[in-house]
Amino acid sequence: MARSSPRLSLFLRGIPEGCRLCMRGSKLVIFLTGVCPEGCFYCPISPSRMGRRLVFADEERVEKLSEILEEADAIGAEGASFTGGEPLLEPRRIEVVSRMLKDVYGDEFHIHLYTGGSLLSRSMLRWLSRLVDEVRVHPRSRAQWEHVVRLAEYRGLEGLDVSLGVEVPVIPGRGDELVYWIRRLDSVGVDFVNLNELEWAPHTATRLREMGFRLGDHGAVEGSWEEAVRVLGEVASSTRRIMVHYCSSLYKDRVQLRMRNYRKALRSRRGYEVEEVEGLVAFLEPGRPPIGFEDYCSIDLSRCWPCIGVEGCIVEAYPSRSRLPRVSVRCRGSG
Ligand code: SF4
Repeated sequence: MARSSPRLSLFLRGIPEGCRLCMRGSKLVIFLTGVCPEGCFYCPISPSRMGRRLVFADEERVEKLSEILEEADAIGAEGASFTGGEPLLEPRRIEVVSRMLKDVYGDEFHIHLYTGGSLLSRSMLRWLSRLVDEVRVHPRSRAQWEHVVRLAEYRGLEGLDVSLGVEVPVIPGRGDELVYWIRRLDSVGVDFVNLNELEWAPHTATRLREMGFRLGDHGAVEGSWEEAVRVLGEVASSTRRIMVHYCSSLYKDRVQLRMRNYRKALRSRRGYEVEEVEGLVAFLEPGRPPIGFEDYCSIDLSRCWPCIGVEGCIVEAYPSRSRLPRVSVRCRGSG
């Protein structure tokens, strides 16, 4: 029986361990490269990261390994995910970072890896089984789904100790394909299928509209949720053990990201800051308002000007190292 919260998340039988930690905001997201050969039309990677060999821990740019540990400590991480781009293009980074995290936080520190799948050979899966706990493949064609089936059979034959699942967006109108493949994956022992709401971003909006999709609230494409509900209903009685988990864009924003920011705000707030339930920190910035404050100042400048240089501004910001981006600025005296 599938259970749900309205337009947040939906699951059948259970959710993968990697997602459970994500829900608590305790999963560190390690972006290992912005390079990926797959070229999916809905790829959410921002243009500033796309195609570049950059590393981020959550939203923090990483240039030294120690910065990954700093971010893990800042959110009180219980696990990490390797994402990109295509992380398998950076096997050395996978090896070094996973060994470091397991050395520092212990073997129970849960690591999952996302991959487009084209580079995931049998030998690569064997190698990964010694480094990470969970592998999530993103198949997009019949051949790639078949490849996951063969990998699952190989994992079973070899007894590899790694959880194997699939992670794909639910594209409106393509639910029948998903039903077919979920049943097939269930029959070969794949552990889970993660279904994501199809999302849009400023850099994908035009293309998605041209393809006939309607763009909805919270970065979601309309129809994805309804298609997912139908898919879960159809596979509920025709599969035996596979977990199927649907995650909406609203859920990612309102729960996962907010929880992670809140944890970070609580653990990293400075003496003069207070944390807010939205996962922001608020602080008084004395003197002149920050450059560019007009962009996010919440009040009428004619009311604001008398306060400048006298009492300063109350700033709300994300709890990043730089306290950027800032979300709002208001005059202390204006309430
Ligand atoms: S496989 Fe993932 S990272 Fe690569 S293009 Fe597709 S959505 Fe983007």
